[in-house]
Amino acid sequence: MSKKQVVLVTGAGRGIGKAIVRALASPTRFVYIHYSTSADGASALAEELAREGKEARTVQADLSDPAAAKNMIAEIVDESGQLDILVNNAGLTRDQLTVRMTDEDYDAVIQVNQTAPFILMREAAKIMMRKRWGRIINISSVVGLKGNAGQINYAASKAAVIAMTKSLARELAGRSVTVNSVAPGFIETDMTAVLSEKVRTQYLDTIPMHRLGKPEDVAAIVDFLASEKANYITGQTISVDGGMNL
Ligand code: NAD
Repeated sequence: MSKKQVVLVTGAGRGIGKAIVRALASPTRFVYIHYSTSADGASALAEELAREGKEARTVQADLSDPAAAKNMIAEIVDESGQLDILVNNAGLTRDQLTVRMTDEDYDAVIQVNQTAPFILMREAAKIMMRKRWGRIINISSVVGLKGNAGQINYAASKAAVIAMTKSLARELAGRSVTVNSVAPGFIETDMTAVLSEKVRTQYLDTIPMHRLGKPEDVAAIVDFLASEKANYITGQTISVDGGMNL
């Protein structure tokens, strides 16, 4: 490939997204680091990469707004003329037992975790199909595979991501565009830092490796799926969970 590959990672100012950016960034790629409300983490990451001679820039969008998601892809394609690797990483939780969950909390999670990835995949697919090469990698969750009490909204959205991955993989396979999911288990990030000690201990009991994962554990498989080494892998969901989904 003569030009640099263009990469977009959503929700990349911190946590797993940040680790994914670090893994994917290279002198042969230009990385868009997406953030929602706080630019600080994304800007610091772009500066860190610049010091290493890797090109990146930040891009803002509130992914609860479908128009903002669509516009973000248009902005990237206007600027760089292409989009080669899309990582749908942004996500949120609004946990509550089903009988107490509000319509608003249900919808908020579905919008960011399910509708936004759909829109970003649809817009990216148009570009990748023309180029006859592309990588779409969606961050799902072990919860999308197994369900979880108190997370009916989150589980539904993460299961939807897996179903969308399989559907789009079938549509794009003939164009050398692969679509895969990664299903992390319990990873040490801001998302899990809010859990009580009691809940953490309960989770540890469900992990055969009996320890939490690191963002870098997830980033490593994303890096592989984005590479030429993964040319013949599509429609798959790879668990990174210390054995939770055995
Ligand atoms: P995190 O909370 O640190 O990061 C989530 C990112 O999503 C943040 O950058 C945030 O800004 C972004 N985001 C949230 N709402 C947004 C919105 N409206 N618009 C745009 N961006 C928005 O959590 P994380 O653990 O790094 O999670 C990254 C992904 O991994 C998520 O999709 C999450 O569901 C998934 N995941 C995490 C774990 C875990 O244990 N941490 C396990 C399984 C799956």
